[in-house]
Amino acid sequence: MTEHLKPARFLSIGECMVEMAPQAGGLFAMGFAGDTLNTAWYARRALPPEWTVGYLTAVGTDRISDDMVGFIEDSGLDSSAIARVPERTVGLYLIQLSGAERSFAYWRDSSAARLLAADAGRLRAALDGARLAYLSGITLAILSPADRAVLLQELTRARAAGTLVAFDPNLRPRLWPDAPTMRDAVTRAAQVADIVLPSFDDEAAAFGDADPQATARRYAARGAGLVVAKNGAGEVAALSDGQMTLWTPPAVAQPVDTTAAGDSFNAAFLAAHLTGAGLLEALQAGAALAGKVIGQRGALVEL
Ligand code: ADP
Repeated sequence: MTEHLKPARFLSIGECMVEMAPQAGGLFAMGFAGDTLNTAWYARRALPPEWTVGYLTAVGTDRISDDMVGFIEDSGLDSSAIARVPERTVGLYLIQLSGAERSFAYWRDSSAARLLAADAGRLRAALDGARLAYLSGITLAILSPADRAVLLQELTRARAAGTLVAFDPNLRPRLWPDAPTMRDAVTRAAQVADIVLPSFDDEAAAFGDADPQATARRYAARGAGLVVAKNGAGEVAALSDGQMTLWTPPAVAQPVDTTAAGDSFNAAFLAAHLTGAGLLEALQAGAALAGKVIGQRGALVEL
């Protein structure tokens, strides 16, 4: 098949977890979520049906792992890049509410997903021919330093063969041994990315950026041709081939739950970008989807 006739493929790489969300009467509802899974889930909805959206992770061989893979497949995602690790299982997090404040408890230290980059050949095969590969700082944080290097090496190889690499630093200091390690790892990942999609508040805390423009310039200086620094309800700074665009997302009347705002923004922004939209149109698509997502409770909302 010639290159342009191959079905286009979006591949998201990271960890999906079991989510336990509080309901009335002390009960919890079980679901599945995770930053890169959320982006894949929304990308599936934002991209034309002829695109394949795949999820690359590792799970166990137990019942809950089967259920997770079933959920991923039922969501319309391609599960062929999901590895099975017999001696491990999937991670879990529990949401706790005190008033409107949400806090999270995690059980993910020995999750199967931590081994998602253990096999370079498997990564290479999954990345082969992908139009875009997407990962986050959480994807990097859960890997050993050696596996992290393997993943970046395979992304570099894929990029040289024509795959676009998109990266959301999604900084979570608690997942890293220390701040310098986190800063070094995300900066290295940005060096192999064509598109970087940071959130300003996290970046300001970790890198001391004065404003979203500073965040965008810092990542662009590492080589990313396109950086979109998101800033909640505030102005987005988009730096595309040296040209800075400042754009304010439309106000959202009643934000209910900002979970997955950034993940869904990334999905719709990338889908628009990949299907030929200009920068402003892609920003509008990102903000429109994120606006709908924050108007409802939960990470994955029916639109
Ligand atoms: P995250 O919640 O992942 O940190 P951000 O806060 O950076 O993500 O928000 C991502 C996008 O979601 C923003 O660029 C904006 O389009 C939208 N968004 C988030 N919060 C709001 C809000 N309060 N009002 C309007 N849009 C918002």
